[in-house]
Amino acid sequence: MAAQLLDFTNAEQYLNEYKELDGIDIKTLMDSKTRGGMTYNDFLMLPGKIDFPASLVSLETKLTKRITLKTPLVSSPMDTVTEADMAIHMALLGGIGIIHHNCSAEEQAAMVRKVKKYENGFISDPVVIKPTVTVGEVKALKQQLGFSGFPVTENGKVPAKLLGIITSRDIQFHDDDSTPVSEVMTTNLVTAPENIELVSANEVLRSSKKGKLPIVNKEGDLVALLSRTDLQKNHNYPNASKSFDSKQLLCGAAVGTRPDDRERLTKLVAAGLDVVILDSSQGNSVFQIEMIQWIKATFPDLDVIGGNVVTREQAASLIAAGADGLRIGMGSGSICITQEVMAVGRPQGTAVYNVCQFANRFGVPCMADGGIQNIGHITKALAIGASVVMMGGLLAGTTESPGQYFYRDGQRLKAYRGMGSIEAMEKTGKEENAATSRYFSEGDSVLVAQGVSGSVQDRGSICKFIPYLTSGLQHGLQDIGSKSLKDLRQQVDDGKIRFEFRSASAQLEGGVHSLHSYEKRLHN
Ligand code: IMP
Repeated sequence: MAAQLLDFTNAEQYLNEYKELDGIDIKTLMDSKTRGGMTYNDFLMLPGKIDFPASLVSLETKLTKRITLKTPLVSSPMDTVTEADMAIHMALLGGIGIIHHNCSAEEQAAMVRKVKKYENGFISDPVVIKPTVTVGEVKALKQQLGFSGFPVTENGKVPAKLLGIITSRDIQFHDDDSTPVSEVMTTNLVTAPENIELVSANEVLRSSKKGKLPIVNKEGDLVALLSRTDLQKNHNYPNASKSFDSKQLLCGAAVGTRPDDRERLTKLVAAGLDVVILDSSQGNSVFQIEMIQWIKATFPDLDVIGGNVVTREQAASLIAAGADGLRIGMGSGSICITQEVMAVGRPQGTAVYNVCQFANRFGVPCMADGGIQNIGHITKALAIGASVVMMGGLLAGTTESPGQYFYRDGQRLKAYRGMGSIEAMEKTGKEENAATSRYFSEGDSVLVAQGVSGSVQDRGSICKFIPYLTSGLQHGLQDIGSKSLKDLRQQVDDGKIRFEFRSASAQLEGGVHSLHSYEKRLHN
């Protein structure tokens, strides 16, 4: 005899009453004692119910105990990822950039200052030339940089007395390449005063019909430039990460834990730094604990993120020392060979879950650092407890990352290297080398690499790439049924969001398969 059918109108109630929910809760998923470590690819979340548009999903989150961001994305302090340009654009787009320290303290402080001084639309360090530069040299510069229209200042620097501007029109029909620009430049200039609002400056530029608008101070020194080609690009950035009191962009930087890093940090704080990351591959050291305590006593307004950690034990030391945030990851980075060489580390999913479970109880937000290959990984890192994710490789091939593009095998590439690669550790000599200190290798006669040096494909500007990531993230949360990152965490904790393991064949099935050929375009 057929089983009696249930009343279909009670289907939802039935599920809840009999606890026949599909999938497993996070605790069961992450039971690493019996199951071993897990990475992002090893599991999936099951879909929830959609009753709101993706565009309304809030991605607001904590970076540290005191700093909140509108977007949970952070760029890594690596010398092929974050310098001033990356940090400026990460902050404009609602995240934050952490400036690397594989350079002198002065250079790093100058980068922090540049981020803090940035005003959307104004070029604060335009390419300028001296009056003695020749027409031939300007033509070469145009070829190299892809634009023309260079302000001429008396010493070829900014700020300095503005003498004129040399544009394509000035040199177009000038055959004698040895002529100095002072003889052909335009000296009848339209300029705008320092402190002019961007909207007004744009208006002056528009009505002047010129290509460039030099911004000058009272002494007639060039301090910035506005460009007609940027006029269209002067977007609004409603999510920009800014300090409460000033309207300046937020900026982070990394330092080590050696005695001279205290001097370095003092310079960074003077430049306006908002948050410091103590950059170490193994954060649970007496050096780091002492450094956190010193920072908390010396700069009480500065938030400090400790790390890297992958266990609760490591986290406990740094939390007790006063860390305002933690950075999680050891061996998961795309350029990393730590697990292979050192035999230590932890699969990133397990590391993030365990550390976050512990740290969040003390109100310490965590950053999932390394191994983020796609939007799905970001969603998963946030679902299992991280407040933000840090990315290296994913941002390395963008317009805003340091270095020039080059072509190999018909592809446009940029260099990307681990800070524990021999190349990074050998940079600039021992004194200033932050990479060696990150791996406790200062003074070693044999450098043992923990990273590799390579290249990544051109990803275009982060002005397109970050909105692609955030929009994808909003859609992911919509599928799961979470209206905000806060909701997501609560629903995971309550066991309402359900997870499932992915077998090796499930992972294959989840990727593109069975096609003769295809092109993987990620966004328009
Ligand atoms: P990715 O986003 O997977 O490329 O990983 C970036 C992260 O790898 C960084 O934020 C660092 O935590 C870590 N990392 C950077 N350089 C090295 C290295 O040389 N060896 C190991 N890990 C590294």
